[in-house]
Amino acid sequence: SVVVAGSVGGLSDVVGDLQRAAGATERLLDLLSTETEIEAPANPATLPSPVQGRVGFEEVVFHYPSRPDMAALEHFDLQVADGEKVALVGPSGAGKTTVFQLLLRFYDPSQGRVMLDGVDLKNADPSELRRHTGLVPQEPVIFSADAMENIRYGRPEARDDEVIAAAEAANARAFIEELPEGFKSFLGERGVRLSGGQRQRIAIARAILKNPEVLLLDEATSSLDAESEKVVQEALDHLMQGRTTLIIAHRLATVLKADRLVVMDKGRIVETGTHQELLEKNGLYARLAALQFNQAQSLGAEARPDAAE
Ligand code: ADP
Ligand code: MG
Repeated sequence: SVVVAGSVGGLSDVVGDLQRAAGATERLLDLLSTETEIEAPANPATLPSPVQGRVGFEEVVFHYPSRPDMAALEHFDLQVADGEKVALVGPSGAGKTTVFQLLLRFYDPSQGRVMLDGVDLKNADPSELRRHTGLVPQEPVIFSADAMENIRYGRPEARDDEVIAAAEAANARAFIEELPEGFKSFLGERGVRLSGGQRQRIAIARAILKNPEVLLLDEATSSLDAESEKVVQEALDHLMQGRTTLIIAHRLATVLKADRLVVMDKGRIVETGTHQELLEKNGLYARLAALQFNQAQSLGAEARPDAAE
């Protein structure tokens, strides 16, 4: 089936893997969602009001247009209840980022269906869809604008007091107010340079402001100092509360908090369960965890199943 129309096919190839595209992703996603693209259905199906955030992958098979020989996802079947937290883990190349790309409707599946609240994404209006899904990327983009505008990007019509409340909930308010001009401080390359943890909190504040029913979180692999780790984790806990969340997880703390882990390999789900259940199964997850988490814990470093290959 046709995935993206004409000119945009090129753009989304350039975007490629969300992880590789890292910094530029947020902006490009936005570009794609506003100016493009994936064909909007003539008579879009209406999502329920309010949207619950129930996500379903039904027997999804997906080939990237440039790799018709290789299925990035194969018979991928996953139901996520509203409010459920699911952590995707697995070696590099397993298909985790691809799951996000399909949910954001960057691409349509080759076979099978991706659903939100029982509506096939193919039948939904892409711009409506994107109002209900939020992505916190691994390496958030900070724009050349002041702190207020950087956060308001999450919901352009938000009032200043709403932006400040989101910053507060994201543990970002205090550090912003300590900048020379507070929320008016200019950020980005020619402005105040933020630390990794501060950039992540800006991205979390944007997502809190946007308030999507479905949150996609691509956990950062770069390590933060213990102090930043704690405030970022608190901010994320706040953001995830009461929201369907799919997390590409790299940290033990995150997988321990997830309701369910989905272990992927070569485009398929190979195991599901809690951290403890999967350790007891002694399969792929147990091997990844032994390689990464234990060592990482004893070294006090990041737990990174993604890097297990
Ligand atoms: P993960 O996020 O688990 O590391 P990905 O979803 O990025 O895995 O990749 C799954 C498979 O799809 C890999 O074999 C990868 O090489 C391939 N792939 C990812 N992005 C693209 C792309 N834009 N074009 C072609 N192949 C891709
Ligand atoms: Mg990836």
